[in-house]
Amino acid sequence: DVRAASSPDETLARGRRALLHQSPQVSDEMLTLVQARGSLVWDVNGREYLDCTAQAWSNNLGANDPRVVEAAVEQLRRITHARPTFHTPALLELADLLVGIAPDGLEQVGFTLHGSMAVEMALKLALRNRPGAQHVLTLQDGYHGRSLSTMAASWPHPDNVFGPLQPRFTRAPHPDTYRPRPGLDPEQDAELCLRLLRDTIRKGVDGKVAALIYEPIQGNGGHIEFPALWHAGLRRICDEEGILLILDEVQTGLGRTGSMWAAQHYGIQPDILVFGKGVGGGFPLAGILAHHDLQRFEPGDDQLTFGQFPVAIAAGLATVRAIIEDRLPERATEHGAYATERLLEMQQRHPLIGDVRCPGLMVSIELVTDRATKEPATKEAHQVYLRGLDHGVIFGESRYAGLGNLIKIKPPLDVTHEQLSRALDVLDTVLTEIENGRD
Ligand code: PMP
Repeated sequence: DVRAASSPDETLARGRRALLHQSPQVSDEMLTLVQARGSLVWDVNGREYLDCTAQAWSNNLGANDPRVVEAAVEQLRRITHARPTFHTPALLELADLLVGIAPDGLEQVGFTLHGSMAVEMALKLALRNRPGAQHVLTLQDGYHGRSLSTMAASWPHPDNVFGPLQPRFTRAPHPDTYRPRPGLDPEQDAELCLRLLRDTIRKGVDGKVAALIYEPIQGNGGHIEFPALWHAGLRRICDEEGILLILDEVQTGLGRTGSMWAAQHYGIQPDILVFGKGVGGGFPLAGILAHHDLQRFEPGDDQLTFGQFPVAIAAGLATVRAIIEDRLPERATEHGAYATERLLEMQQRHPLIGDVRCPGLMVSIELVTDRATKEPATKEAHQVYLRGLDHGVIFGESRYAGLGNLIKIKPPLDVTHEQLSRALDVLDTVLTEIENGRD
């Protein structure tokens, strides 16, 4: 067998060429990771990186936490069969735990494997509870996943090759605190958008709206924090129009913003809350929390073979327990306060930093070529990412979403102070290098 005779390097290279999902990153070697622990990852060449993108790939609790690994291994030894119709003790314990820490009124819970499927579940629950209403409102720049329905609910895909997407989704504008519409301050911008949203419900949709889905902070859409009156206004409109409010907390949930849920952080009362990523501690797990008033699913509505995969559920139970035990929301607040102070100080020295946003450890900076015009510095943002790698830090970049000029610093919430400080030092260094035009 020719393949068996080839060197390990050749095998990896051939495997890489065979993959349908080509990597958006630049360095193939870096992507071939062999180990992770806490906020650190190691590649095949033994290089260590501080991972500031951990949140995007599921870790609010650091990678490979021994408590999670043990729980998963123990479950593997006992039973791994996925049976949508039977329960495991961990499933029931996790359901009880999540309801215990959920925002008020959310007393029902459902599990699945991915954020996209959890959004689909939320949409189905809303449609079941609003018979006759077929439409769903989403926000421009929102991101809810990559299944066909959740794609239709998200910002338009640049290639537009997947259309026609489901016509049930209608996008409404949202306010922008950093770039409010000309002549308006952020609050006036939010008020205008609320009026536009109500117009969309009444005149822009041919039929009844079942639900509005939005992210408390648009994770892939640019990390814009919305003014408080926007959240309150959306709730009011939903109540007045009989629409269910779905809050997508796949990125913001489980401590990231400094509260267990962004719903609590911003005082939002959702009817359905979607969670994902951080709940599995690195295992595929997601789901929804729903208001006790909502009618449950009928058998067959949402049955997936691996929807309640026992190993992921066991890992999720250990993860959520650890997030509570280690007080990770408080850690996010402390780290976020430190990051804010450092980044605001850096902003005074680095003209590239247009805006600093740190609700908890949902940290990002927007790079601009000119602070007055706020022209996005997309090329420079990519350079920050590349130079960060040279310094052993993986920054989050947003080349495929938002304006492409955002640098995200989102390590696990149990990152050490020293590690966070190192990431910020590296950021400082690479910004200086870029501003000085150094190669
Ligand atoms: N909602 C939001 C807010 C997300 O950020 C994501 C993933 N980036 C999803 C849904 C989809 O989650 P998944 O990739 O697990 O399907």
